[in-house]
Amino acid sequence: MKKYDERETLFSRVALQKGTKEYNEFYRKNSTYKPADDKQRRVSFRHKLRKSNRFKELFYPITKHNKNYIKHVFELTESYPIHTPRIPIEPRFAANIKEITKYYGATSVGITTLRPDHFYSHFGGVSEHLNKDTYNQPIHPTYKTAIVYTVLMDKEMMNRGPMYEELLATEEAYVRIATIGSRLAMYLKDLGYKAMFNNSEYYLAPLVPLAYDAGLGEIGMANHIVTKEYGNNVRLGAVFTNLEVATDVPIDFNLTNFCKQCALCLSNCPGGAITHKTRMVNGRQFYKFDDNACYDIWLKSGTDCGTCISTCPFTQGVDLIKLSQTKEHPEIIHEMMDEHYQKYGRRIFTKHELDIVKLEDEREDN
Ligand code: SF4
Ligand code: SF4
Repeated sequence: MKKYDERETLFSRVALQKGTKEYNEFYRKNSTYKPADDKQRRVSFRHKLRKSNRFKELFYPITKHNKNYIKHVFELTESYPIHTPRIPIEPRFAANIKEITKYYGATSVGITTLRPDHFYSHFGGVSEHLNKDTYNQPIHPTYKTAIVYTVLMDKEMMNRGPMYEELLATEEAYVRIATIGSRLAMYLKDLGYKAMFNNSEYYLAPLVPLAYDAGLGEIGMANHIVTKEYGNNVRLGAVFTNLEVATDVPIDFNLTNFCKQCALCLSNCPGGAITHKTRMVNGRQFYKFDDNACYDIWLKSGTDCGTCISTCPFTQGVDLIKLSQTKEHPEIIHEMMDEHYQKYGRRIFTKHELDIVKLEDEREDN
């Protein structure tokens, strides 16, 4: 089994400072990443938004405090005591755990047993904001179960990607993921079990394999989890615990065949980052992907783009009855794609700005 290593992820790589011991060590072993990474090193895409200073002054602070908020929620959860004695829990309580996670704000929830290959082998030091110097530290998992969940992002905002509204939607999702994860972890601690939440400032494991194993969706061409109901217009979160309850299994709604006939994320990707070439990792099908090409677009647009999310037919909504017939009648996929083109064209994009980011003199109520 391949061990994922957070040091190989784009954000960890481009955060390395040229000339440091860590930089030299990493690129000695992984020289192929170096030329593209060096061009993107330590540049924050958020500063590249082509908007007036007035716009930035007024609307950047909408999310400026997010990392600080997540940091405090994480620290609060970590310091929250584990109740003793432990309350015995039966495996079938899994159904309640899922409902409780939804009560805290999740859109969908699945549960999977953790194996060593789910976890990163080492931290990649992306938890800078928590003031944790974790780079190069090995990760020794002690949790048995992952409760994995999605949160739905605002479709109106995502359909405006790569404009600023798209970034507002994704950043809001990270805050909601942290809030849900924190409350669920504290709930589990109140029951007497160890628990922590994976979050955008502190990952112990990549989320897509976990969400796949927990049956939340399949892996689409852009390497995101695609859910039947909301496409890839979701962000993922996970709580790790030593509570053991009944688990879920991966689902198969024929996405691989759908993707073969769709490829809209690939054809609409402005960076040419997405490919149709599959690659198997630990028994799960992913696609070859150029993360530097994707990040180039983030650096040009000043947002995290999201075109591969808005263009996915599942994000805009597909007929689930027809979808369930596509294994026996593959020609129905053509029909579904035709319907999608008629409604949305090859790429959905809403150009006019939402009121939330209109400057005073641009508002109609002025
Ligand atoms: S975020 Fe944009 S650039 Fe990156 S893969 Fe998706 S569509 Fe391509
Ligand atoms: S846009 Fe099409 S090809 Fe891409 S993930 Fe969605 S269904 Fe698959």
